[in-house]
Amino acid sequence: MNVLRYEALPMHVIFGAGAITELAAEADRLQLRKVLVLCTPEQRELGERVAGLLGDRAGGVFAGARMHVPTQAVREAESAFAEAGADGCVVAGGGSTIGLGKALALRHDLPIIALPTTYAGSEMTPIWGLTEAERKVTGRDRRVLPRSVVYDPELTYGLPVTVTVNSGLNAMAHAIEALYAPDSSPVVAAMAEQGLREFLWALPILKEQPAHLEARAGALRGAWLCGACLGATTMGLHHKLCHVLGGSLNLPHAETHAALLPHVVAFNLPFAPRAGEVLARAMGLSSPDEVAVKFRLLVDELSWGRTLSDLGMSHGDIDGIVDEVLRSPYSNPREPGRDDLIRILEASLGHPSRS
Ligand code: NAD
Repeated sequence: MNVLRYEALPMHVIFGAGAITELAAEADRLQLRKVLVLCTPEQRELGERVAGLLGDRAGGVFAGARMHVPTQAVREAESAFAEAGADGCVVAGGGSTIGLGKALALRHDLPIIALPTTYAGSEMTPIWGLTEAERKVTGRDRRVLPRSVVYDPELTYGLPVTVTVNSGLNAMAHAIEALYAPDSSPVVAAMAEQGLREFLWALPILKEQPAHLEARAGALRGAWLCGACLGATTMGLHHKLCHVLGGSLNLPHAETHAALLPHVVAFNLPFAPRAGEVLARAMGLSSPDEVAVKFRLLVDELSWGRTLSDLGMSHGDIDGIVDEVLRSPYSNPREPGRDDLIRILEASLGHPSRS
């Protein structure tokens, strides 16, 4: 029996330039009395601004969010939460900050309001991640879903161009893999296509004009849609490779997505015809056959042609990565053998293929 399943996730979403001013009303709607604001050290100013907007409801700012959610940061945030006598959090930042809020929600079942400032899309997913002794563990749990998400494009006007492009390509990877996921559906496909369209028009503009207001709003709509695709489906080979590369070699998350994505797309598309059709439409191409080559040119152009070698991987790392990918199962429209994985990694390293 061929049935489709789709689980709608219950976040309350507010979107618009200036929407940050809705935060206090959102806290009241959720009946929160004291709210701890989480952010990275670099975004402390935003954290303080959020605390100011919350007024008496603010229980302080914890500016200790870090990449990959180390358990030490979670423990420190837990202490700050207890000291503040807080009953909820506002997480103001990118995937790292939202990840810290999710870790608290997982342990204490507390409500979080997300104020995303990148395009990673974590605010739309029940996926959490934690790093203990350099080992990253991830899982899915409805308790970590933000109760409210406030998207304010004004908060992204100062997002550096490199983070803009890389987190945008990271988001596009969610939409692309959702198109050929085993649990994809017409709802997911519609969100993925629109999310891809938003980034395809917005990212080339933002690379040249980072303060382009309409493109900033478009990219943030894309983040919402692509994040929702990630939250609704099971990711494939691309995410598997990124996860292994991040865990084994500590490569930077979003940049790794950018360097790998065109090569995984080229490998998968012959076995994912519907994804090819959607990408061709979103890219304005007349045939899916043109997608692989044009998509690679586009990503190279956007990401300054950066390869996995530029990020610190070397040819000698390939075998270990391939072993690890082959060890654990994941879903993908095309099953790659050892030679396929080597070819994909070599191409992403910027080295000529051995075969
Ligand atoms: P990030 O949150 O690590 O932020 C990168 C840097 O950009 C930080 O220094 C941050 O302070 C700064 N920054 C963020 N927004 C800014 C802004 N508007 N202006 C200026 N500086 C800003 O990066 P990210 O790409 O958003 O998140 C990556 C992390 O998120 C990874 O650890 C990844 O695993 C995780 N992630 C999780 C999910 C999920 O569903 N759980 C989804 C996507 C990504």
